[in-house]
Amino acid sequence: MTVRVRIAPSPTGNLHIGTARTAVFNYLFARHHGGKFILRIEDTDLERSRPEYTDNILSGLRWLGLNWDEGPFFQSQRLHLYSQAVQQLLDQGLAYRCYTTSAELDALREAQKARNEAPRYDNRHRNLTPEQQAAFEAQGRTSVIRFRIEDGREIVWNDLVRGQMSWRGSDLGGDMVIARASTEGVGQPLYNFVVVVDDIDMEISHVIRGEDHIANTAKQILLYEALGAKIPEFAHTPLILNQEGRKLSKRDGVTSISDFQKMGFTAEGLVNYMTLLGWSPPDSTQEIFTLETAAQGFGFERVNKAGAKFDWDKLDWLNSQYIHSMPVDKLTDLLIPFWEEAGFEFTGGRDRGWLEELVTLVAASLTRLVDAVEMTKLFFIDTVEFSEEGSQQLKQEASTAALEGIIAALENQPELTAETAQNIIKQVVKEQNVKKGVVMRSLRAALTGDVHGPDLIQSWLLLNQIGLDRPRLHQGIIAGN
Ligand code: GLU
Repeated sequence: MTVRVRIAPSPTGNLHIGTARTAVFNYLFARHHGGKFILRIEDTDLERSRPEYTDNILSGLRWLGLNWDEGPFFQSQRLHLYSQAVQQLLDQGLAYRCYTTSAELDALREAQKARNEAPRYDNRHRNLTPEQQAAFEAQGRTSVIRFRIEDGREIVWNDLVRGQMSWRGSDLGGDMVIARASTEGVGQPLYNFVVVVDDIDMEISHVIRGEDHIANTAKQILLYEALGAKIPEFAHTPLILNQEGRKLSKRDGVTSISDFQKMGFTAEGLVNYMTLLGWSPPDSTQEIFTLETAAQGFGFERVNKAGAKFDWDKLDWLNSQYIHSMPVDKLTDLLIPFWEEAGFEFTGGRDRGWLEELVTLVAASLTRLVDAVEMTKLFFIDTVEFSEEGSQQLKQEASTAALEGIIAALENQPELTAETAQNIIKQVVKEQNVKKGVVMRSLRAALTGDVHGPDLIQSWLLLNQIGLDRPRLHQGIIAGN
């Protein structure tokens, strides 16, 4: 069998982490079996669907490296297929026109509630005669199309994650609406129906989606049967939960892939983390892998039934691993948009070579890309801001003398290199008979405003290259008085 799977997002919001994780599992399954991964945009809800959400979904999937083999297909361009299928069910007597008004449905629901019964449609228009239909139409009533669901049916499937599943037809709410009323044709087809028509048409072999779709699956299996199609395999993946064990939602801060991107996560780190949200690799000690490596070991026997808790620390750790092992030119490319967003300008000697040296300086300290903004700010502003400790350091007597010594030594030093910088420090230590630590701390405080930070000599060289070291040494002396 050729494996054909799909991700079918609705463009009613940005690409959600849950949808992206479902996409990851579909992608891994397709790659594992040498199958096809298809993208379908479920945009039949005209009021809530927006083109900018479609753009966000497409660019999010591409950014994550979840490249699809076919599509994107848009349901809004396939309406003729759905109408045909509705007509087929009507012709076969498996579906019918229902003229019940919303007031009648409300009354039905109220009566069921009063009897403590679950709300369901009572199938009252299942067997209308052509005369009864004509009479309703003469009253100006519109009709929806309902699909017959036999109460006595038992729907059983072997879920690839959850094992044997079964539903009773009587628990599906009565004959289901497959198309909403509209003035022309067979009306506007609804989600459960169009999904089945598309999955049949696209020859989907495995439907892999979130467990919130389980009840839909029972209904959809009946539709496959009615349309005379082969029923695919189903795999319902666990939900993503927050720390409290509830479904991850907007209230947890970020939920869309573009938010994670803005927060400074790398595509590789995030997608690696998502593969681990509900799946564990055959070698469970291995946590860092590409999509292609994960695909080799992927299978549903290692997907958990229980919800997957979202763990920010783990995501941060994985992300930092990717940042730390990234080639400097690539990391520089990724950091430039964050610097630009912060308003930093690449002028006054801050050329590509200089930027790459700056990246080398801070790379090992980054957890998220965005951390680089705070960490490198002092290299983009003219006047440094002093921390409490930084200004205390500069107020020490030895500090002023050390900075004056450094300035004097710099005068005789046409070019600053790592070696000449070390020599200047040694010279000042000797001349003034102070501890090396004092000179280093004073130098750091003057250049960076603080007493902690990345490698001092490298920081100095970078500031020297853009002509900021001398002014800051003078500024440090002033700040110490
Ligand atoms: N459009 C559905 C959703 O976004 C997906 C349905 C499916 O995978 O069958 O939840």
